Amino acid sequence: IVNWPFLSPQRRNLSWVQLAGHKGNFKAGGEGTILKKFCKNEELCFESLQGDVLQDFVPGYYGVVERDGDPFLHMTDLLVNFDRPSVMDCKMGVRTYLEEELVRARERPKLRRDLFDKMLEVDSEAPSPQEHLQRAVTKPRYMQWRETLSSTHTLGFRIEGIKKADGTCHTDFKKTQSKEDITQVFRDFATNNTNILVIGSSLLFIHDHTERAEVWLIDFGKTTALPEGQTLNHSIPWQEGNREDGYMWGLDNLMRTLGSLTNK
Ligand code: ATP
Ligand code: MG
Ligand code: MG
Repeated sequence: IVNWPFLSPQRRNLSWVQLAGHKGNFKAGGEGTILKKFCKNEELCFESLQGDVLQDFVPGYYGVVERDGDPFLHMTDLLVNFDRPSVMDCKMGVRTYLEEELVRARERPKLRRDLFDKMLEVDSEAPSPQEHLQRAVTKPRYMQWRETLSSTHTLGFRIEGIKKADGTCHTDFKKTQSKEDITQVFRDFATNNTNILVIGSSLLFIHDHTERAEVWLIDFGKTTALPEGQTLNHSIPWQEGNREDGYMWGLDNLMRTLGSLTNK
C-alpha cells in the first residue's frame, strides 16, 4: 500500500478550522472524524436525530468517546472531502441564549466587571452612566445588549466566522448588522461564483474551487425538546416565555440575501 502523504490524517487536520466556540473544544478523531467536547444537550439531540428526517443534514454521529479522561462527541469531519475549502458559520435565530439562561442569570444578578470590560471594548458608549460608575454590568444585561449589535436581532441570523480558501480566517462580525454589509460578506464568501449558490436549511457553508458546495446543520448544544404540548412557529417574534427562536425567519432572510447575489 502506498501511503500518499496528502491523504494522511495529519495532512487533513491541517485544513480543519474552528470558526466559533472555545479554542480547545475540538480534537482530531480517527479517519475523517472529529471530537467535540461533550455536552449532554447535544448528545441527546444527536441521539434523537438518528433516524429523523433531518439526519442526512447533520454530521454523522458515532457516540461518546473518552480522551485523556474527558468525554467527547464523535462525529464526521465535514471538511474532509473538500480541497482547500472556504467555510462560513452562520448562527441562526433571533436570540442565541436559552430563556433558562436568562432566568438563571437574573436569579443571581451579580455585578460583573469582566462583562463591563467586554462591553467597553466593543462600544465605550454602551454602558449606562450608572454602569460606568459601578464599572460593572449584570449578565442578563450583557446578554441582551450583545444580541442587539449583530444581525441576530435584525435578520434572525449572524455570521460567526469565515475561512477563505487562502487560509485566512475572519471572526470579527460581532457588529455586522446591516443587510448591505451582510450581503457583501456573502458575496466575498461566494467569490462571485454564482454556480455554488445552492442553499439548504443550515449553518455551516462549505465550498471549494471544484464547485463542490455543501450546507450542514451543526451545533446542538442548546437544542432541547419542547415541553409536552407546546409547539413553535419559528417565524414570529420572540417574547420571553413563548420560546420562539426565529429560526425560519432567519432562514428566509438568509435565503433572500443569497438570492440577491444572483440578481446582479
Ligand atoms: P458555540 O456554541 O460558541 O458556537 P461550540 O463549541 O458549540 O461553539 P460549534 O459551533 O459546534 O462549537 O463548532 C465550532 C466550529 O467548529 C464551527 O464554526 C466549525 O467551523 C467547526 N465545526 C464544528 N463541527 C464541525 C464538523 N462536524 N466538521 C467540520 N467542522 C466543524
Ligand atoms: Mg456554534
Ligand atoms: Mg454551541
